[in-house]
Amino acid sequence: AINMSQLQLEDEELGKGNYGTVKKVLHKPTNVAMAMKEIRLELDQAKLNAIIMELDVLHRAVAPEIVDFYGAFFIESCVYYCMEYMDAGSLDKLIQPYSPRSASAFPAAPSMVRGLKFLKDDLNIIHRDVKPTNVLVNRKGQVKLCDFGVSGQLDKSMARTNIGCQSYMAPERIRGESRVLYGAYTVSSDVWSLGLSIIELGLGRYPYPPETYSNVFAQLTAIVHGPPPCLPSGPPPSSLEDWVNRCMKKEPLERATYKELLEHPWLRNNAALDVDVERWVRCAVQARTRPIR
Ligand code: ATP
Ligand code: MG
Repeated sequence: AINMSQLQLEDEELGKGNYGTVKKVLHKPTNVAMAMKEIRLELDQAKLNAIIMELDVLHRAVAPEIVDFYGAFFIESCVYYCMEYMDAGSLDKLIQPYSPRSASAFPAAPSMVRGLKFLKDDLNIIHRDVKPTNVLVNRKGQVKLCDFGVSGQLDKSMARTNIGCQSYMAPERIRGESRVLYGAYTVSSDVWSLGLSIIELGLGRYPYPPETYSNVFAQLTAIVHGPPPCLPSGPPPSSLEDWVNRCMKKEPLERATYKELLEHPWLRNNAALDVDVERWVRCAVQARTRPIR
């Protein structure tokens, strides 16, 4: 099992989330670069054991579209979670302006759907936190999911260190209906979050910009009661817009399944085009590091 004494902290901080910090570390025994996430917890010893058991499923979450899990350990009131280091960062950092003519503008989508489908079909896991910061990319052109909900106890014990202002939650989750209607979350809530993330990539910004709403409540009200967001329409035939609209149904039962999304003309054509994801990542990283004039 992995422990802190094997890890050498690198200077680079990879990011900060609502619950903790992610740092780059070197695992000295294997010389593997890893990303270590520190999550501050509010709990007692008994609950720690529950979390350790629940995290065990991560060792079985092995797929090309899932970030590798190397192990977790606890020190005082923090859990340290070690995963594969993804050298191009998360999708939100690769956002490019929408180009309606190019079906290859969203090369991350196929991997996202395959990853979500794998979690559901093979491990019976619903992600629960699909959003651009939880989709990681590397320079080999691989797109992988992280931060899916495997531990109910961990979820309950995480101490919030900062409040996010972007919600990717489906309307029924904001209303709190899903527990009553379907017994806990359904997979279709993730389909909404997937669609919203793809729209964000297309628009180049979060579809419910905080500056349009006077407060978080107004923003959540817009998600629940307003029309669903969509992509600006490009020249026909625009199967991409249709694909996104199939995700963005207000009514969860009307949303497409992962199978339908994979078989949809947009993804089938995308596959036929054999999009060069590696090149896309290279260009996006270059655009990001180019100095602003
Ligand atoms: P939230 O706390 O709401 O889940 P978040 O996903 O941004 O938001 P973290 O999961 O703590 O928060 O991650 C913080 C940032 O660290 C991410 O936005 C991502 O850019 C970066 N990051 C996370 N994991 C890795 C990784 N394995 N490799 C490289 N960068 C990572
Ligand atoms: Mg995250």
